Amino acid sequence: MSRPKLSCSLCAAPVDGRSLRSPQKLENRIIDLIKQDRPDWEANRGICPNCLEQYRAKKFVGYLEAEYQKLSEIEHAVVSKITRRGRVSRVVHQDFDAGMTFGERVADKVAQFGGSWPFIGLFGAILVIWMLINTWLLARHPFDPYPFILLNLVLSTLAAIQAPVIMMSQNRQAHKDRLQAQQDYEINLMAEIEIRDLHDKMDSLRFKQWHELWHIQKRQIELLEHLCARSSNPELEMPPPSPYVPPEL
Ligand SMILES: [Zn+2]
Repeated sequence: MSRPKLSCSLCAAPVDGRSLRSPQKLENRIIDLIKQDRPDWEANRGICPNCLEQYRAKKFVGYLEAEYQKLSEIEHAVVSKITRRGRVSRVVHQDFDAGMTFGERVADKVAQFGGSWPFIGLFGAILVIWMLINTWLLARHPFDPYPFILLNLVLSTLAAIQAPVIMMSQNRQAHKDRLQAQQDYEINLMAEIEIRDLHDKMDSLRFKQWHELWHIQKRQIELLEHLCARSSNPELEMPPPSPYVPPEL
């Protein structure tokens, strides 16, 4: 005799009346989700196991998404790299240098040369030569007589141009360092997650081994008990091995 079939109030599929879940027994969260999808649904008839499974899955996906939203931008990047089995580490300096403009390269070179001993030596030499030309060589008609006002103007112009160039270069260096630090953080985070994952794997392996060991011991005790019993009754049959039940991990 076939049981009466009832229809699910969501998908209208005919199912066994006893497998329908009554809306009074559903969690509020699931009822909310159903009402979001089907505003016209009235919670007075049961829903089938298929629909219930779907909405349970939706509920958990919702929880996971909410957790995912709480992560910071860097953590998002790392999570998506882990799920795609991608690599986090990359050579920041190469990427950065490849994207530099001509002006930025020149600024770097100028800052590099301006902060070196050869620059100080060369500059000192130019100053001395300038002064010598204006006091000895062109003693009669110097283009910049003592106290060298033109030289002063040239020096202050040079200083005024050099300062922003050096600052540009330093800003970029700071930006580069920031990128490097961020990358170090990503690598650390990924390593931490991977190590935790490995720990979990090791734990489950160890647990499985302990379980097998325990099973072997149990069998040994059974056999020992059989040996003891056989000393009084030699006709005794060997007991069959108890079935191995793998542990739930
Ligand atoms: Zn259904």
